[in-house]
Amino acid sequence: MLEIVLERATAPDQMKEQPCGMCGVEFRPKAVLIAVRIDGQYIDEAILCEPCLEHLGRRATALRTGPDWDFDHAAYLAAVQKHPEPYFPTMEALLEYEEQHDGYVDYRELQVV
Ligand SMILES: [Zn+2]
Repeated sequence: MLEIVLERATAPDQMKEQPCGMCGVEFRPKAVLIAVRIDGQYIDEAILCEPCLEHLGRRATALRTGPDWDFDHAAYLAAVQKHPEPYFPTMEALLEYEEQHDGYVDYRELQVV
């Protein structure tokens, strides 16, 4: 089952302009990424744009579909307000952190919703 996860960008590099993983329109993600997991596995290239999230949430609400669609656009907007910056201010800071922690970053900390 496809699942949407809101999580903080690790570094500014993840906030570069890129095509949406669903609609294909180029966009620049904010510091909270709309990521996709299928059966618990992240799909690396599938970061969604805000209009796609908004559309899916509205559609799921209108059709009252399954529990995996119980996120909503308001939660995303609140997360963006709370986390305007990526987890690490620079890619160098991320690499330095990984070096100090044997290459390990606890990505569960990045999940915001
Ligand atoms: Zn999109």
